[in-house]
Amino acid sequence: MKIHLTKFPVGGLHLEGEEDRDILELEDPTVRPMSPVRYSLDVGLSEGGLFATGTLAVDLEQECVRCLQRFTQTVEVPDFATQVELGTSETVDLTQEIREDILLALPPHPHCDWNGANQCAGVLEIKRIHESEPPADLGEKNPWKTLDQLAKPKTD
Ligand SMILES: [Zn+2]
Repeated sequence: MKIHLTKFPVGGLHLEGEEDRDILELEDPTVRPMSPVRYSLDVGLSEGGLFATGTLAVDLEQECVRCLQRFTQTVEVPDFATQVELGTSETVDLTQEIREDILLALPPHPHCDWNGANQCAGVLEIKRIHESEPPADLGEKNPWKTLDQLAKPKTD
């Protein structure tokens, strides 16, 4: 994402738009960008440097660490902030900074139920194990049955 300095307004600049998803250079097969990288940035010049603050977002397809289901999650950088020293070039490229901040915002353990819209099959499986009764076919050998009987108040 290149910012031209030749006609840079004194009061700064507000930039909104999209960058190609390829700037993320993701090599992880479990993470796939599904949208361009959206940005909304306030850009200004200070002594010898260009600063930019704002938000970044991209929709990513990821793999749930619990159930291995693939799902799409919007990854956001709500407080992007960077300062770049001005060189001799007439443009400043923020691609590297944007890329790094999005990569830092990636969830280290993505869960498919991140926004509550989906029920993770992995969580359901854990619940099922916790809530299930002891198997009935143990019959009299079932140690729980004996304990249950001991715990029951006498009814006669
Ligand atoms: Zn899941």
